[in-house]
Amino acid sequence: MISSIIFIVVFLSAFAFFGFKILKIRRNILLGRNTDLSGNKGQRIKTMLMVAFGQSKMTARPIPFIMHFFIYAAFLITQIELIEIMIDGSTGQHRYIWHLVEGSFLGSIYTFTINFIEILSVLAFVATIVFLSRRNIIRLARFQKPEMKGWPSKDANIILFGEITLVTCIMLMNSSDVALQRLGVFHPTDTLIISRAIADLWAGIPKETLLIMERIGWWGHILGILGFMVYLPFSKHFHIFLAFPNTYFSNLLPKGQLTNLSAVTSEVKLMLDPTADPYAVPAPDQNAAPVKFGAKDVQDLTWKNLMDAYSCTECGRCTAECPANITGKKLSPRKIMMDTRDRLEQVGRNIDKHGKDHQDGKSLLFDHITEEELWACTSCNACVQACPVNINPLEIIIELRRDLIMEQSKAPSSINTMLNNIQNNGAPWQFSPQDRANWAQELNT
Ligand code: SF4
Ligand code: SF4
Repeated sequence: MISSIIFIVVFLSAFAFFGFKILKIRRNILLGRNTDLSGNKGQRIKTMLMVAFGQSKMTARPIPFIMHFFIYAAFLITQIELIEIMIDGSTGQHRYIWHLVEGSFLGSIYTFTINFIEILSVLAFVATIVFLSRRNIIRLARFQKPEMKGWPSKDANIILFGEITLVTCIMLMNSSDVALQRLGVFHPTDTLIISRAIADLWAGIPKETLLIMERIGWWGHILGILGFMVYLPFSKHFHIFLAFPNTYFSNLLPKGQLTNLSAVTSEVKLMLDPTADPYAVPAPDQNAAPVKFGAKDVQDLTWKNLMDAYSCTECGRCTAECPANITGKKLSPRKIMMDTRDRLEQVGRNIDKHGKDHQDGKSLLFDHITEEELWACTSCNACVQACPVNINPLEIIIELRRDLIMEQSKAPSSINTMLNNIQNNGAPWQFSPQDRANWAQELNT
């Protein structure tokens, strides 16, 4: 009875806290500008099923794909066993579903499912060890970049050790049950392939100790899962939820197609086309807020850019493909996403403390992301292509650059020269338009 009450209190508290944090994250994402991504539902569902559910972009690196798939599949399928744990925890019973289906066809399905979970759990255990080794022993280059120092590296290790603990607890629980059954204490299913092998190790252990071991496994597993849930909103692992909406709202335009600023496009059209009708362009509304070009802070980005930031797994595939980063420039698209999320969290905390109109005098541009990083981008889209959850760091880079040029007239001298040349010569080079055909003169001699 007491254990059921403790279980229900812990369970409800964990869910309440998780829900509270989800609402905060939602509020933060909605601080972004509106953008209409409601169309193309069929295409969007297909993209989500392929990229998030089917993990299609992970296949570019087959071994990490297989390892990640073990963990992903184990996470999904273990939720089935969790249902029984929740029923047992709140009713004080043991293996409630098993007792319900014992001896029937459903009982065989139950046994098959638990066996399947055990096999996947062991594969996930192996995958987790491999992932820990890649980060801490092999020290893959993309996990050693400057933005991964400190908390991001700890966060990844905490989750991986958490997964090892979860699998260890579930195997301890199942194998202790099998050992107890061999002593005639319980009647859980005795056809768990892996647990039976582990239970051989428990031969000779007294019943009382086995009961404690089973309870440690049971409580360790459920507390581990609830702890994982509470921790997720503070971690990059929140992507296990956001990967689905984030891929649904993917940018479906061809890569490289930039969104134009309509106000600028109209002006340019009027300048370039002497026959253009100036009245075809609507006169600016004198009462409307002044048009702001680009983004200086997170509120100037779209909600999708902000959802991207919360969806980033910090895997570094984008940075590993980024030509600027590869050639030693300061730019890392992963850092762009991490900075955006950090700044958004900072803005969210300011709102919580001081109200929604509070200005802390800081901004994403300058305080988190520098001009040097922004101008190192070649806008090649390699990062967008590489991202396993369809995040688009380039969109954020372009918006921040737009702010630099259009709002602050701050561009590197090389770009200013090019812009002046376009304005004066109609071409990026420093030659008069009259001299444009000079190169052909030699052909006639
Ligand atoms: S678009 Fe920019 S950030 Fe992305 S890979 Fe290319 S150079 Fe790097
Ligand atoms: S943006 Fe995508 S590829 Fe880059 S670190 Fe984040 S999840 Fe990985």
